[in-house]
Amino acid sequence: MKHLFKQDPAIAKAIQLELERQRDKIELIASENFVSGAVMEAMGTVLTNKYAEGYPGKRFYGGCQYVDRVEDLARQRVKELFGAEHANVQPHSGAQANMAVYFAAVNAGDTILGMNLSHGGHLTHGSPVNASGKLYNFIPYGVNAQTSRIDFDEVRKLAHKHKPRMIVVGASAYPRTIDFEPFAQIAEEVGALFLVDMAHIAGIVAAGLHPNPVPHAHFVTTTTHKTLRGPRGGVILCKESWARAIDKAVFPTTQGGPLMHMIAAKAVAFEENAGAEFRIYMERVLQNAKILAEALMAEGLHAVSGGTDNHLILLDLRNIELTGKEAQQLLDEIGITVNKNTIPFDPTSPLVTSGIRLGTPAATTRGMGPEEMKEIAGIIATALKHPHHSAVHEQLSGKVQEITSRFSLYEETMS
Ligand code: PLP
Repeated sequence: MKHLFKQDPAIAKAIQLELERQRDKIELIASENFVSGAVMEAMGTVLTNKYAEGYPGKRFYGGCQYVDRVEDLARQRVKELFGAEHANVQPHSGAQANMAVYFAAVNAGDTILGMNLSHGGHLTHGSPVNASGKLYNFIPYGVNAQTSRIDFDEVRKLAHKHKPRMIVVGASAYPRTIDFEPFAQIAEEVGALFLVDMAHIAGIVAAGLHPNPVPHAHFVTTTTHKTLRGPRGGVILCKESWARAIDKAVFPTTQGGPLMHMIAAKAVAFEENAGAEFRIYMERVLQNAKILAEALMAEGLHAVSGGTDNHLILLDLRNIELTGKEAQQLLDEIGITVNKNTIPFDPTSPLVTSGIRLGTPAATTRGMGPEEMKEIAGIIATALKHPHHSAVHEQLSGKVQEITSRFSLYEETMS
C-alpha cells in the first residue's frame, strides 16, 4: 500500500487498522469470509476504469473486447458450478440481485410469500423497511415454534389462501438444511414462481454438501462474498426462458454500468469454488460448525433448533439472561466478532434481540479446526456467563490473542 500511504495516509491508516483488526480477532460473523490473494488482486485492477453497459457482444461502449472475455468466463463458470441455464453476474450485491428478479417477474402490488425476517429470512424478502416490502404485498411464513424448522404446513396453507405470484425461499439465520422440493411442489400447486435466495449457503451448494435449488426454482440468487468466498457482489441464475427478462431487469432497469473488476474477481472465485480444495474447505466449515455448536450446548447454551446442519449457529440467550446486543458487545471486547440476531418469536426488538449468530466460514479459511472450535466455545461460554468480571475478560482476551497469533492472515498480499 505504499502509494496509498503516500497520497492518502488517513485512508491508508484506516485500512491498515482494519487489517490488524481482522488479524487480531476471531471472526465468527456467519456472512463474512477472507478472500484469496488472487480474488483480492483481481479487484484492484485496471478493469475498474472500464465502462461496459450492456452484455458481452452487445455493449453500449467501445473497447469492451477484454472485459467481454472476463464476463463470459464468469457467466460460464458460475453456470457450470450450479448447473444453471443462464447467469447474470452483474448485480452489485445480493439485494440488487433480488430486486432485479422482482422487477423481472412480478408487478408492484403483487402478493409474494417470503420467510419472516425474525425467523431467519432477509430484509429483501419483504421487510417493511426494504423496497421489497414497500412495493409488493409480502405474506410472511416462518418456523414451527417447537422444532424451529420451516413449517411446511403453514407455507402450504398460506400459499393456497393467498395465491402468491411468487414464493421466496432463503435465509440469513436458519441453521438447518433447506429442502427445496416441497417448496417447488407448493409453488406448482398454486401456480407461483419460485425464487431461492441461496446467499448464505451457496458455497455449501457449490461443494455438493447442500441440496442444489437450481433444478427446482425459476430463479436463484446469491451473494458471492459469504460461503462462496468471493468479492462482495451478487449473481442471478435462471431458466433460459427468463434470461432476457432478468438481463433487462439488471441493466438498464435497476443498475447502470457493471463493475468489471468485481466481475473478474467473481470469476476467479468461481474457479476456486469448482476445485477439490474448496470441497475439503467446506467440509471443514460444516464440521467446525457442528463441533462449535456441540461444545456451546455442552456449556449449557441454547442453540436454536438444537444444533446446525450448515455453517451457522443461532444462540438463544434467554436462559442466561443476556440480550444479543449485550453479548455482541461483550464478545467484541474480548476479541470475538459475532452479530446480535433475532431468534424465532423473539420477544425483544431487532435492535436488542435475544440471540447471537455465529458462523465458521471465515475462521475455517484462516485454518482453525476442531481444537480451536472447542477452545472458542469455552471462551464464549465463560464470557457470557461472567458478563461483569473484568479480570475474567482480560484472561479471555489473552486466550483469543494466543489463538489468532497461531494463524497468519494476508502476510504476503497486504504487507
Ligand atoms: N440475501 C440473503 C439471504 C442475505 O443473507 C443477504 C445478506 O446478508 C442478502 C441477500 C443481501 O446481500 P447484500 O448485503 O450483498 O445486499
